[in-house]
Amino acid sequence: MNTVFESKEEFIELYESSVMSLSGKPFEDTSDIDRFNALVKLIASKSRAIQTETEERVKETGQKRVYYFSIEFLIGRLLDNYLLNLGIRDLVKDGLAELGCDLDALEEYEPDPALGNGGLGRLAACFLDSMAHEGIAGYGNGMRYRYGLFKQEIVNGAQHETTDEWLSHGYPWEVRRPDKAVRIGFGGHVEQYERDGRMCFRTVDTEDVLAVPYDIPVVGYGAETVNKLRVWSAEPVEEVFDLEAFNRGDYAAADRHRAEAEAISAILYPNDAGEHGRLLRLKQEYLFVSAGLSSVLDTFRSEHGSDWKLLPQYVAIHTNDTHPAMCGPELMRVLIDEEGLEWDEAWDITTKTISYTNHTILPEALEKWPIDTFSKLLPRLYMIIEEISRRWRDDFDRSAPDWQDRLRQTAVLWDGQVRMACLSVICSHSVNGVAKIHTDILKRDTLKDFYVLTPEKFNNKTNGIAHRRFLAEANPAYAKLITEAIGTGWLDNADELAKLVEFENDPAFLEQVGRAKHDNKVRLANYVKRECGLDIDPNTIFDVQVKRFHAYKRQLLNIFKVMDIYNRRLTDPNFRVAPTTFIFSGKAASSYAFAKETIRLINSVADVINNDSRVNGVMKVCFIPNFRVSNAQLIYPSAEISEQISTAGMEASGTSNMKLMMNGAITLGTMDGANIEIVNLAGRENEKIFGLTAPEVDELRASGMHFAWDMYNGDPDRLGRIIDELTDDTFAGLSGSFESIRHEIMLNNDADFVMKDFHTYVEAWEELTASYSDHAAWNKMALHNTASSGWFSSDRTIREYRDEIWGA
Ligand code: PLP
Repeated sequence: MNTVFESKEEFIELYESSVMSLSGKPFEDTSDIDRFNALVKLIASKSRAIQTETEERVKETGQKRVYYFSIEFLIGRLLDNYLLNLGIRDLVKDGLAELGCDLDALEEYEPDPALGNGGLGRLAACFLDSMAHEGIAGYGNGMRYRYGLFKQEIVNGAQHETTDEWLSHGYPWEVRRPDKAVRIGFGGHVEQYERDGRMCFRTVDTEDVLAVPYDIPVVGYGAETVNKLRVWSAEPVEEVFDLEAFNRGDYAAADRHRAEAEAISAILYPNDAGEHGRLLRLKQEYLFVSAGLSSVLDTFRSEHGSDWKLLPQYVAIHTNDTHPAMCGPELMRVLIDEEGLEWDEAWDITTKTISYTNHTILPEALEKWPIDTFSKLLPRLYMIIEEISRRWRDDFDRSAPDWQDRLRQTAVLWDGQVRMACLSVICSHSVNGVAKIHTDILKRDTLKDFYVLTPEKFNNKTNGIAHRRFLAEANPAYAKLITEAIGTGWLDNADELAKLVEFENDPAFLEQVGRAKHDNKVRLANYVKRECGLDIDPNTIFDVQVKRFHAYKRQLLNIFKVMDIYNRRLTDPNFRVAPTTFIFSGKAASSYAFAKETIRLINSVADVINNDSRVNGVMKVCFIPNFRVSNAQLIYPSAEISEQISTAGMEASGTSNMKLMMNGAITLGTMDGANIEIVNLAGRENEKIFGLTAPEVDELRASGMHFAWDMYNGDPDRLGRIIDELTDDTFAGLSGSFESIRHEIMLNNDADFVMKDFHTYVEAWEELTASYSDHAAWNKMALHNTASSGWFSSDRTIREYRDEIWGA
């Protein structure tokens, strides 16, 4: 472990001088924001000193560098995490206290950059943490959006989106690197020219922008390795200010050139927002790929010269989903057009360097671009993709009887579209899914034709989570208890959490487990009171579903359950219910009407139930607005039930399921995504599994023997009543009724099997919550979940990537 400060006194001295030099004021006159910024600047500069040592070590040992290309990094707040990783949290807290400052209060000033939609972006951030912990020379490469994913506010129950101005007070972790800026060309046309007696291609008449990198340190636990995340911002190549327009009073026109360039990195697109066809998104993808590759190759060149065949030995480029799929053709372009390599040699280097993670099994969610749009924006890249496609077709094995169908399924160019998943598979030496069931479905279904052709490329890497952030940092009460029981080794090696099984029959310890959970529930209740003005009772069960809103994630099923319990309670006051607070949080893509209506339904049901004195002691419904990493860290530790109820076969992996399990929540879930691995690790008796399995869903779909109207008519008292309540007055008081949800579920014949799984789900919930009254048994299940969760540390996932994909 590196020593960051020799003593508390040294910290105080350096910190005071950092505050004064940054603010220009005496310490006593500075504001909390001055003090926060100065603290980050000091920790960042200490981190960069370790980064320099890391860099020297990597160079000296010739360590392979891994570049993780992702269009999203949902990094969360960094300060608390880095103090923990540097081993100086207590020292800094005490030092600040001597100066009359409260570390927890200062940490509230840190922006929580929403540079991702959800699981995919948070995975990328967890991987950065684990790469640094594992001593891998691993670097993130992504986009610096001026506005993150929208901020969600709830108005009359409905989601409203406002801009997330995370940069308004500056971002003290980042360092702008104009010296490393890269010129990126769009449009234009390709011409041939002769260079050293050889015909080459270049693109001329392009419209250029400057990609400017900002570097953020990534501090590994143990303070031995500090890597970096490089994010790119788009700017004009040169300042073109139209003075004439300005003098005319047309200020917008005067600065148009700058505005057009900056638009490329202005916003993060919400997924499911129908972004296809939006030129800006394609520009974003090319910008971070092209600029990122340029800096990767510069580093390689400075260390190994132009011996490009060594590239796969020293560099691994990993593409997180298909947004960086242009890495393949762009690397080919550089090697051929700029470095003068022949196609075959460049292709061999490219495919040995690049690897790809798939995140979705839904054919309709696979990314595609119209050829027309693509080829106009990136003409040379398109030529290379055409050549990749031509060679794929020419080399295709035509001996199998179904070869034509297989060629159609694997073609990069088809039906006027560039198919990015096909491009990613063809350009990569490794293709992985993110949970066992997901990889199996890829092999069997989504990418089956590729799997038949190149089975050796396919492998599974079940997702993982940064256990130091999501357990040690997010849940200090529980972490303290764990450390007292088994020592601090689990921070370094999450497998050591297994030692907790020794305490599963220790009544005093189990009581403390319950007490830590209760403390966390109080902490969340205070947050809810502050944010929503709602009182929730920490003595009730906290039943939690927090994730993006999507039909397949079935928040609708959860709220149907709440409506059912409410209805039954009103009909029969003797109906026993374990007092429960139903907690929801998550954003819906701005253009996804069904998901937004589901949010409005939840808030409308909450409005009725929370104001009905007949059920007040038994149930409350709470929607926490603006789900993001910082409030996730308050929610996960307080959960007792983890709702993981996607339609089986639809959720690739999930990661909140792992975070909740690690914090001692019991999974109430379907056999989907990583829930299956949770059950395998912790035992089915320690979770509550219900519902159709993926093969049963497939079978039911294929048979067509599934009828929403039959289910509606067959159960008028419960399911039928709920469907009717969508359109009558029961929950319409806040902002109207829910015709579109009723329409969706009945006319689309219950496409997500909400009605089909309804009864087994509610039964499972009733059984699970009935067991809550035996606190010792519940706490034992909770502890067993934590003890079984070490395998889900992203340290494990990253070691598998390192050993089986990157060879780093
Ligand atoms: N959104 C945020 C802010 C998260 O931290 C996470 C983390 O897991 C997710 C979304 C993903 O949730 P899930 O895995 O349940 O889809």
